[in-house]
Amino acid sequence: MRPGDILISESEIAHAVQKIATKIAKDHDLSDLLLVGVMDGAVCFLADLIRALPGSINVTTVRASSYNGTEATALNIAWLPSRERVEGKPLLIVEDMVDTGATVSALIKALTKLGAASVKVCALLNKPSRRVEDVTVTYTGFNVPDTFVVGYGLDYNGAYRNLRDIHKLIDAVDEPT
Ligand code: 5GP
Ligand code: MG
Repeated sequence: MRPGDILISESEIAHAVQKIATKIAKDHDLSDLLLVGVMDGAVCFLADLIRALPGSINVTTVRASSYNGTEATALNIAWLPSRERVEGKPLLIVEDMVDTGATVSALIKALTKLGAASVKVCALLNKPSRRVEDVTVTYTGFNVPDTFVVGYGLDYNGAYRNLRDIHKLIDAVDEPT
């Protein structure tokens, strides 16, 4: 498997990040909001988004994983912020992609249990055709078709996160020679 055609370019991503940041800034008191980046996939999006927001931003991370290659497996939440950090706070989950919705749905439950005042979702990419869990994605950059993508934080077995554009992943054996 390797990255194929570019689905979303670096400049399209940068434009979408700015637009999302403008909306978030308009809708919130940023001095109160806690951004919760979902590692590892949101690493690029989180870094760009917080720098596109004005003023001082509170940010923390959670770690959730559910993929082995291109196959979704059981969800594992490896870490969460402390109760002290989230209690009474409005939270914004920052995700690379909402696919089935299972990760975001489990995180909303876990963060609500820790006493968050509210939990909204911001995802750069959205695959509505794959949705299983009913989750509201308040801020999104792009709806993508049901195809596995890599780059800008999104990986295939740990590889390709550092690509600047978002590519479709292609099966090398299917390629014409
Ligand atoms: P869920 O199905 O729980 O909504 O998606 C969970 C996670 O799977 C996403 O946060 C994302 O990290 C990963 N994921 C979903 N679709 C893709 C994809 O096309 N490419 C990559 N690399 N990861 C994906
Ligand atoms: Mg993710």
